[in-house]
Amino acid sequence: MSAQERRIIYAHIGQPGYTTDIDCYLRHGGYETLKKAFAMPPQAVCDEVKTSGLRGRGGAGFPTGVKWSFLDRKSGKPVYLVVNADESEPGTYKDRQIIYNDPHQIVEGTLITAYAIQAKQAFIYIRGEFQHGAKLLEKAIAEAKAHHFCGNNILGSDYSVEIIVHRGGGCYVCGEETGLIESLEGKRGYPRIKPPYFPAVLGLYNCPTIVNNAETMAQVKHIIAMGGAEFAKIGVPGDRGTHIWGVSGLVKRPGLYEIEAGKATFGQLLYDFCGGPLDGRTFKAIIPGGSSTKILKFGDRFKGKLPSGEEFDWALEDIPLDANSIMACGTGLGTGGTIVLDDSVEMIQALANLNAFYAHETCGQCTPCREGSLWLSRITKRIAAGGGREEDVPMLKDIADQVAGRTICAHGEAVAWPVQSAVPKFREEYLESVRRRNKGEPSPYALKLI
Ligand code: SF4
Repeated sequence: MSAQERRIIYAHIGQPGYTTDIDCYLRHGGYETLKKAFAMPPQAVCDEVKTSGLRGRGGAGFPTGVKWSFLDRKSGKPVYLVVNADESEPGTYKDRQIIYNDPHQIVEGTLITAYAIQAKQAFIYIRGEFQHGAKLLEKAIAEAKAHHFCGNNILGSDYSVEIIVHRGGGCYVCGEETGLIESLEGKRGYPRIKPPYFPAVLGLYNCPTIVNNAETMAQVKHIIAMGGAEFAKIGVPGDRGTHIWGVSGLVKRPGLYEIEAGKATFGQLLYDFCGGPLDGRTFKAIIPGGSSTKILKFGDRFKGKLPSGEEFDWALEDIPLDANSIMACGTGLGTGGTIVLDDSVEMIQALANLNAFYAHETCGQCTPCREGSLWLSRITKRIAAGGGREEDVPMLKDIADQVAGRTICAHGEAVAWPVQSAVPKFREEYLESVRRRNKGEPSPYALKLI
């Protein structure tokens, strides 16, 4: 049976006549949830989010309500809220659609969250390239202020908060929460060492800070609108609500699909929603949740045990679209930005592309990440250019093994995971690429990526 979309965050996006103006948002019930939240004590709002079981939508999937509960309130320092709208992960483009088409949804969620955690100031840190998105958010905030939803004495209460939109300088690692905080403080975006720099304790200006993804803010609005317990009925145990799957690459209908967690499979996503492979092609692999998640190969079997204790034996097409099922298959849901590769793609070229990106974006603080990402990029480029050696293939995996888990931030894993997952799965194809180029034979792959 075909799976259906369940549009909550994207309910109005793409609807004829729906605009980014506050009048349109108000006509569709906008800011009613803010009024509902302000009638509740702040802790009750936090409790609803905890009850909902929402996991953050920035990629790591940490439970949002639990994160809020870590705030250090004993220090007496001001609390800050930072909304991460940096969205620089290759293959990921879900947040910008909300910003560009329904910015008030993010503003309302930000105001509810700020009130819940009693933040003194909120920031939306947006990727520098999203100039128009930044303008839309600034306009939405100005409109919200004009209606007394933002600024001083919101809705006549004694709670006041300002939201400032801050454009980043175009650096991938500033999507990492502590790198983002450094950047927001006006410094170079070097991620900080944890401990001690857990943002909920030592965040922006060394004050307690919550950093949440932009879509997470939109989800918070819907949690408060329907109530945490009602929201917790959507999805499956361990993963509540909907996920926005942004499918790119070699499918007939790439695009964004909002699907209830665990209520469809990768097979349904790729065939029913996306129309299957291009004519005459067959699927080869997917990178499921943004480019830093581990690659999955068609034809492999995935066996193991779910956190519930249930055993599974799935083909890639059978994997349910929820965080725990995908994690049990050795990769991650990440941002839901699924990149699809077919039999026209030579995997060494795909890997060389990824490696070049991560080598370019390393901040250089940690030796394993700085040197390892560069070596991985050089080796894969060398193979793709025709100067590779067979021993390069196992060397790629050896280098990646010495990067993951040895760095300050998760960029080390982002560097290592594509290589650690792709080399064992496509080892024979990589060796064949080396041999074919050394013999000067023509490429059987239709697509040229580099
Ligand atoms: Fe910088 Fe890489 Fe270290 Fe992260 S892991 S702090 S990006 S060098």
